[in-house]
Amino acid sequence: PPLYKQRYQFIKDLVGKYKPKKVADLGCADCTLLWMLKFCSCIEVLAGLDICENVMKEKMHRLSPLPGDYLQPAERSLTITLHHGSVAHKDPCMCGFDLITCIELIEHLEESELEKFPEVVFGFMAPTMVVITTPNSEFNPLLPGVTFFRHPDHKFEWNRAEFQSWALSIARCYDYSVEFTGVGPPPTGMEHVGFCTQIGVFVRKYSQTSESVHFEKPTKAAYKTVSIVSF
Ligand code: SAM
Repeated sequence: PPLYKQRYQFIKDLVGKYKPKKVADLGCADCTLLWMLKFCSCIEVLAGLDICENVMKEKMHRLSPLPGDYLQPAERSLTITLHHGSVAHKDPCMCGFDLITCIELIEHLEESELEKFPEVVFGFMAPTMVVITTPNSEFNPLLPGVTFFRHPDHKFEWNRAEFQSWALSIARCYDYSVEFTGVGPPPTGMEHVGFCTQIGVFVRKYSQTSESVHFEKPTKAAYKTVSIVSF
């Protein structure tokens, strides 16, 4: 399957394993991952955030309930909310999640946004789990036609050592553990380059009942709500 599907499948498998109830996707673009997660019966709250309102609205209708959803009311309730805003800003609507995914997001952030990202996601949103995926630049020589970056909007592409040292310092600073994996395995004989997409899976080490949640959080909203659908 294409690489983006392998990334989404990785998240679906993780959801199947850990059964999070509240999941947010940062940089959700056209909401394809949210649409796939809508069918995971453990999830009760889904949220998406993107800096580009138009791309979020493109296929938003897919998130709406289908006629069958009304004829056969589900046992669980599900609410899907889309927010327009930046991961460089804090908004209390993103607090209290079990899983936050950032799929191919960080390499699109400006330097100033990337600097704020750890404090916003790990310090403020502080979910139980965070998954971050980004290109592994060591794989690039194997990709036909890629001479520099894989996409002109990429601000950087990191090798495994660069991504892992960034991720490990965040984990240390915000009291998370992190494990590294990937999708898109290298061809036989090229195993040394690693996966095409590198993935960091972070798990919060402290529990929600500890002092950390009592830190004063700004109550002012920074994002704009684009859509809310409830099942
Ligand atoms: N996660 C999706 C996927 O895997 O297909 C989309 C990835 S797309 C390559 C990166 C997305 O991040 C774009 O939709 C872009 O608008 C969004 N983005 C870029 N900077 C952002 C920011 N500061 N805050 C929120 N989203 C941002």
